[in-house]
Amino acid sequence: LSELFLARIKASDLNAFLHVDEALTLQQAAAADQRIASGDNTVLTGVPIAHKDIFVTRGWRSTAGSKMLENYVSPFDATVVQNFNQAGMVTLGKLNCDEFAMGSSNENSYFGAVKNPWDKTAIPGGSSGGSAAAIAARLTPASTATDTGGSIRQPAALCGVTGIKPTYGRVSRFGMIAFASSLDQGGPIAKTAEDCGLLLNAMAGFDERDSTSIEHDKEDYTRDLNVSLQGLKIGIPREYFGAGLSADVEQAVRAALKEYEKLGATLVDISLPKTELSIPTYYVIAPAEASSNLSRFDGVRYGFRADGYTDLSDMYRKTRAQGFGDEVKRRILVGAYVLSHGYYDAYYLQAQKIRRLIAQDFQEAFKKCDVIMGPVAPTVAWDLGDKADDPIANYLADIFTLSTSLAGLPGMSIPCGFGQGEKNAKRPVGLQIIGNYFAEAKLLNVAHQYQ
Ligand code: GLN
Repeated sequence: LSELFLARIKASDLNAFLHVDEALTLQQAAAADQRIASGDNTVLTGVPIAHKDIFVTRGWRSTAGSKMLENYVSPFDATVVQNFNQAGMVTLGKLNCDEFAMGSSNENSYFGAVKNPWDKTAIPGGSSGGSAAAIAARLTPASTATDTGGSIRQPAALCGVTGIKPTYGRVSRFGMIAFASSLDQGGPIAKTAEDCGLLLNAMAGFDERDSTSIEHDKEDYTRDLNVSLQGLKIGIPREYFGAGLSADVEQAVRAALKEYEKLGATLVDISLPKTELSIPTYYVIAPAEASSNLSRFDGVRYGFRADGYTDLSDMYRKTRAQGFGDEVKRRILVGAYVLSHGYYDAYYLQAQKIRRLIAQDFQEAFKKCDVIMGPVAPTVAWDLGDKADDPIANYLADIFTLSTSLAGLPGMSIPCGFGQGEKNAKRPVGLQIIGNYFAEAKLLNVAHQYQ
């Protein structure tokens, strides 16, 4: 199986993989064969997986899509990687992503953009563009990804595959290169909800090395896959179907909702009134945390160091000027600004208050429904290069995913047909399913019944 996928990866021109090491992979595959022969296997033993290059992996380069970590080889495994290794999964390689997971199109990667396998002139979405494209092109049956403001759900949607962002704290952040720590959450991308459930079973769990990991009993996320949806109440947020949503995406999402009605669910009108505020709120909080997290890349401890400096300050300055890309620098500047004396109360504190109100919106809504559904993104994948020089246009595309992240809720994306885009091309549409805290098994059930 690993040999088959390695051959496909070699033949692919999507730029989804940043590093492959056949010898390492085949060594792990041989060990998996032995485990299977001795009966000491799990359901995932011998199944190949690829990791977003945000998860550090022992013996592999772990770059976070940045020049800053271009030659960085981690001496340890992220907890997520360790969990999959223990289950006997075989690492196929490391997947391309936006630099430090900042982006919605994968065009912010130092190693170049990933192409969308459905249409190679389109973006795959981001930041986990490599993770989603690799699943869509069948370069791997499973991948890991991270979602800070939509980076599992949006690329899954734009590439026509399935991804789930669990409740904040379910999946360990240990060894996941930090972007915005109060939002970052790992999760799987795969072909189906069933596959995602099997992967989440191995991926999730309490980890004392992550200070915000949640102590919750181990559960089987696949346990409810076959439960009937008769009587399920699906909340449809008015704000997710207003201006800005393109007609082709709306059509595909509404058609999926009709299918849910056929499966016995009822649609309930709900409101998430603070949706609009999620963009300014997120783009204050995430950069603030990023500016703090990224201060560790100073040219001293690890990673890139610039040549030709005169003293320590000059070394810091040159290293960070040359090591970070434009979007990362932009966020460090914004973050340092909103945290600075005199502006902290006006921006950062205010954003934290709105974040609480956004979370309350969802709790009000869940009094009326079991899950919430809507589009993942306002449009299908846009053309590579189209918004590359327009950060605000990229930020606006996150409108339907940011609130879930700010509230720490679980959310997923499943494929629900195709739109045309401006070019009349066939590009996938994703249906978003949002649940209350710890409702992952319910989300996977709801997704599986449709698939
Ligand atoms: N597009 C959002 C951003 O650029 C979300 C990224 C993410 O979830 N990692 O920050």
